[in-house]
Amino acid sequence: MRESTITNLPGYDSATLDQEFARLERQVDEERVMLRTDEAREAFRVHWLGRKQGKLKAISDAWVKGAPSDRKGAVGQRFNELKTKIEAAIVVAQINPLLARMSPEEKAVFTGSAQQMLAEKLKEQQQAKKLDITLPGTSQRTGVEHPLVKTMAEIVSVFQRMGYSVGLGPEVESDFYNFESLNFPPNHPARDTQDTLVVGDQEKKPLRERLLMRTHTSPVQIRSMLEQDPPLRLIIPGKVHRNDAADATHSPVFHQVEGLCVDTNITFSDLKGTLDNAMKAFFGSAVKTRFFPSFFPFTEPSADVQISCIFCGGKGCRKCKQSGWIELLGCGMVDPNVFGAVNQRRIELGREPVYDTRRISGFAFGMGVDRITMMKYGISDIGLLYSGDMRFLEQFA
Ligand SMILES: [Zn+2]
Repeated sequence: MRESTITNLPGYDSATLDQEFARLERQVDEERVMLRTDEAREAFRVHWLGRKQGKLKAISDAWVKGAPSDRKGAVGQRFNELKTKIEAAIVVAQINPLLARMSPEEKAVFTGSAQQMLAEKLKEQQQAKKLDITLPGTSQRTGVEHPLVKTMAEIVSVFQRMGYSVGLGPEVESDFYNFESLNFPPNHPARDTQDTLVVGDQEKKPLRERLLMRTHTSPVQIRSMLEQDPPLRLIIPGKVHRNDAADATHSPVFHQVEGLCVDTNITFSDLKGTLDNAMKAFFGSAVKTRFFPSFFPFTEPSADVQISCIFCGGKGCRKCKQSGWIELLGCGMVDPNVFGAVNQRRIELGREPVYDTRRISGFAFGMGVDRITMMKYGISDIGLLYSGDMRFLEQFA
């Protein structure tokens, strides 16, 4: 290796710079062909790139830092090219022994991707040469929450303030978690493949193990009760899937927020009080709620919940079809069969069947996030929420 001493440049004009850097590049070329051992390669690296005594460090100190301010760019650019050349020489010395062991096909693939990387590196350098610091910069645009995510987070936070913790689960579920454990009889219409998107080629598996895209967030209730003993207060936000044709009010992908509360002495009054409180927290204290009998397989008794119209205050308007009320939620007391399925599964998993209906009871509720979002922001077509159209989304920034 040659002496590392670097003397000051005779001048900073382009011709002198080209000449001096060409001399250094010739040195690199002479040395790189001799890098046949690990020791030689390491000595080459230390000689050029060593942090304290390396030649590049000396060049940087003497030529780059010492340059008149209007020539700094010209020196820096040549300096960077020299550095790239040295780094490339080290990489090539490292991969040469590997290349020698490769088949011609492997070599072709390998050198192909290496050439591509090199081309990209060169392109970066070309662009760096064109850099004009007097041009205005490109500003990074700040992102905002999608209206669906925002609504979902707001609903979740209302319940978090009431002591609920967040539960999450997979979007690909088994029939057991999505249907069987939630008291859906085998021929229930919701199991029909018209409504459910199923994973193919599973006819050989027992029904309860077959995979599908979850049609509601309720499987997370079951998963949570298998993991945790009562008392339990959970709020479950998530994406769900159904085989629905897309139109102004339907999308094959949509969002739900679901809640579950299990403890001793939980009654329907607790359910009514909880939802009334939550709706007032979310829509404002003037909002009223009312409950109507309904049916869900996993709750008994079940109810639909309406809130007084948030647009007209209950007087009647176009949005509430002159009724003064808007239907918003489904809810009910957890069906004892659901607790039974949880206990049965807990026994199979070697866990204590602690969801004993003589000791505990619970309620559950669920709502569609998309519908609430559309109502809140006056969106008439659900498809807009999934279009990714910036002109639409920017309105909510
Ligand atoms: Zn109204």
